[in-house]
Amino acid sequence: MDYPELSLLVAGTPRSGGGRAVRPVVNPATGAAVGELPLATDDDLDEACEAAATAFPGWAATPAYDRYGVLRRAADLLRERAGEIGRATTLEQGKPVAEATVEVRGAADILDWFAEEGRRVYGRVVPARTPGVRQLVLRKPVGPVAAFTPWNFPITIPARKIGAALATGCTMVIKPDEQTPATALALAGALVEAGLPPGVLSVVFGDPAAVSTWLIRSPQIRKVTFTGSTAVGRQIAALAAEDVKRVTLELGGHAPVLVFDDADLEKAVRLAVLAKFRNAGQICIAPTRFLVQSGVYDEFTDRFAAAIGTVRPGDGLDPATTMGPLAHVRRPPAMAALVADAVEHGAEIAAGGGPVPGAGGHFWEPTLLTGVAPQARVMREEPFGPLAVAVPFGDLDEGLAAANRVPYGLASYAFTADRSTAHAVAEGIEAGMLAVNHFMLTAPETPFGGIKASGYGSEGGTEGVDDYLFSKLVSEA
Ligand code: NAD
Repeated sequence: MDYPELSLLVAGTPRSGGGRAVRPVVNPATGAAVGELPLATDDDLDEACEAAATAFPGWAATPAYDRYGVLRRAADLLRERAGEIGRATTLEQGKPVAEATVEVRGAADILDWFAEEGRRVYGRVVPARTPGVRQLVLRKPVGPVAAFTPWNFPITIPARKIGAALATGCTMVIKPDEQTPATALALAGALVEAGLPPGVLSVVFGDPAAVSTWLIRSPQIRKVTFTGSTAVGRQIAALAAEDVKRVTLELGGHAPVLVFDDADLEKAVRLAVLAKFRNAGQICIAPTRFLVQSGVYDEFTDRFAAAIGTVRPGDGLDPATTMGPLAHVRRPPAMAALVADAVEHGAEIAAGGGPVPGAGGHFWEPTLLTGVAPQARVMREEPFGPLAVAVPFGDLDEGLAAANRVPYGLASYAFTADRSTAHAVAEGIEAGMLAVNHFMLTAPETPFGGIKASGYGSEGGTEGVDDYLFSKLVSEA
């Protein structure tokens, strides 16, 4: 098995052993341990913050062109190692190895893009009211950042945070999820090999609440960025507020898909199956609530249920697998509770609905529930798994009202042949992102973020760079 040795990375040096506590990393396809992860001591955490603060002035003063060189070299190393890193991802996270390998290449693209964009951090000259006065607006890095990333995209999400921070001259202490440490360490390792100075990036693991409290309260940390659940995001924002630290939050979603009577149903269903069951539905922008106009509701749900039969759940190392297990032992019971509650509220199971028969590990069938009552928990709680619901609606206003009914506002989707319907959805939908007639929303060049309980700030596009900068006014007479 190709699972690497695990360590912390503090002040440029891997750390393990030394009496540190450890926890196992479990392969979700089998339930077997694949590795042992050392957990940071309080001294490790303090030294990581100290190193980030010590390295910050030098890294901020490094020409953007040189920072670009480091990130670009790291991106090339990731591309060279994509197969090997992708295999480690599958062993610790479960997704099919082809999907994991594509994710590594995508992370390389993200580093490339931030590397380039870091060279285009321009200030402004603002005309003054007084003759002889020159007003400059300088764009400066905010300082050392504490980052917390989840297990669902174990290289994409760290790459977005690390890429933006390092390209702009910030330093970072990152705590990736303890279920997926090897993938995040492979990214950090590529950066170190590419010439990143010691201390610019440290990687720590431990009890999530204890580590995040420690890092956010550290006087050296000036900004916090978190991707995960809304419940945890709330706690993190509250902690950061105590010392008025800047925060970026990418939290949960509950994406609606408005399918109108005039939609191309063949295309909508074909793409919906891919988008819903990719990464076993463990995606914050996964389509979840299929709100289907009454004229095509029956046809859409019949086609969707039939297409679900083409999904092949299995071990991600098997090339025939198109959907892996859920990443955590706690996720199948979460699916079971949502399905049982929906059925109690009158829903019908059109496809799936239970654990994958005969499978070990943490598998759940690709599932479609139809006729789900608004009171069912799944209509407002993010399933974060291979579970879709379908509900009919009448006219555009009713569809939009249903789409906007949840506290979340991250991704949204619509399928229609009519430009004016698409325009009305774009105006009326309460979401940070909308895709019409497809499901693609994640390019390094475009902003990625939500509103309402889905958080604030952005992790892509020029907006993602702005999140790591502050404006300094210099007025010279
Ligand atoms: P969870 O809330 O227990 O954990 C979510 C993530 O936050 C994990 O990576 C975890 O290690 C981390 N975390 C937990 N407590 C923390 C703390 N106090 N400080 C810092 N980090 C902390 O949920 P889970 O069971 O792991 O995942 C399921 C839920 O998480 C889903 O319902 C989904 O909303 C959310 N989630 C969202 C994303 C996303 O991309 N937005 C990714 C993963 C999980």
